[in-house]
Amino acid sequence: MLIVQKYGGTSMGSTQRIQNVANRISHSLYAHSSTATHTSNTNAQNGNKLVVVVSAMSGVTDEILQHAYAFTPTPNERDLDMSLSSGEQMSAALLSIALNAKGLKSIALNGRQAGIFTDSNHTKARIQYIDTSNIKALLSEGYIVVVTGFQGLSDRGEITTLGRGGSDLSAVALAGALKADSCEIYSDVDGVYTTDPRIESKAKKIERISYDEMLELASMGAKVLLTRSVELAKKWNVPIYAKSSFSEDSGTLITTEENIMEKPIVSGIALDKNQARVSLIGVQDKPGIAAELFSKLSKANINVDMIVQTIGRDFKTNLDFTVPKNELEKAKITLNEFDSNADLIDYDNEVAIVSIVGVGMKSHSGVAAKAFQAMAKDNINIRMISTSEIKISMLIDLKYAELGVRVLHAAYKLDQ
Ligand code: ADP
Ligand code: ASP
Ligand code: MG
Repeated sequence: MLIVQKYGGTSMGSTQRIQNVANRISHSLYAHSSTATHTSNTNAQNGNKLVVVVSAMSGVTDEILQHAYAFTPTPNERDLDMSLSSGEQMSAALLSIALNAKGLKSIALNGRQAGIFTDSNHTKARIQYIDTSNIKALLSEGYIVVVTGFQGLSDRGEITTLGRGGSDLSAVALAGALKADSCEIYSDVDGVYTTDPRIESKAKKIERISYDEMLELASMGAKVLLTRSVELAKKWNVPIYAKSSFSEDSGTLITTEENIMEKPIVSGIALDKNQARVSLIGVQDKPGIAAELFSKLSKANINVDMIVQTIGRDFKTNLDFTVPKNELEKAKITLNEFDSNADLIDYDNEVAIVSIVGVGMKSHSGVAAKAFQAMAKDNINIRMISTSEIKISMLIDLKYAELGVRVLHAAYKLDQ
């Protein structure tokens, strides 16, 4: 079997933890394999083939960013990628050293050596293609191949990074390109829960979840998996196992909807505290305004999420939307340059979005009403609402964020 495993920052957080990862890898060499037996001092030739993607040791990426921002609020993004990529380079090399020290045959590769090619969009590059020839050759020579997550090489020969949490994407992309039998993402939780277990201790682990539900949960704030990694997994039909590197739990399988027997109406609740609200009040109600505004925002590379426009009256209307908090300043600049003739532009940073996600919503009525009743009972004001076939999102005041999650978790009896 060819297995791609990814170990996140917490799992790689100290020499002791890297040793733990090395021990787990050693066991994985012969896991699922009925013929081989485990002997120490062996290499990968007789067992499973393993590609291991790693994140930087926990805190390292943040620390690098802190150093960079100490000089300027707008560090050069090429240089930023150059510094950021060093975190993964260190952890990959350390893991490989630990594996070799155990008598296993291992080699560490950076993004370029692993053949991960991206566009030139520094700090949020997209993978264009993966040249697997080097990895395949090393696997057939019996190496465990340890690959730096989160980074690649642009067509201009520059080091790029894939955006925060990008190692999940590196792992899924490698699993897809290598046609791996299994893609296992290890973090500090033993799977995908009905909500963030740090917010609601009664959250329950989900055995199986569909790509679409996981996509909605991830994009609405459940950081256990990066949204783009789930997108890619769905596109290439790569099943993902989300597991913990600290337990033996079987984890959560993220797969196609057809592979899931039980389809609860609501599968989980997500919380996103990284969005800010922008409101254009009394904007001209005529064709082309939204087109122009959102084109300008898109050109400035600002990701707009919720959009709500109200029915116009007297040739005026209100347009509300959300942008990531760290892009709010950019959005303000864009809006100042754009002549919307709005009576007022209002910004609010102190907001959060809570979302209910479930494929069962498609065929059930009353799901939204229940959410609104639950919020009302706890006096939480809903400022914006947006829905999709399998999701209901509500913008609320930041101070009610965690309470909102717990209230909804209880309303749909997800703790039972
Ligand atoms: P890593 O550093 O290994 O990539 P992350 O910190 O990115 O791990 O993701 C794991 C974290 O995701 C957990 O510690 C947990 O707090 C958070 N999380 C948020 N929502 C969920 C959820 N629905 N299920 C499980 N974990 C979640
Ligand atoms: N080290 C990077 C980050 O902290 C990438 C990752 O961990 O996936 O965002
Ligand atoms: Mg992560």
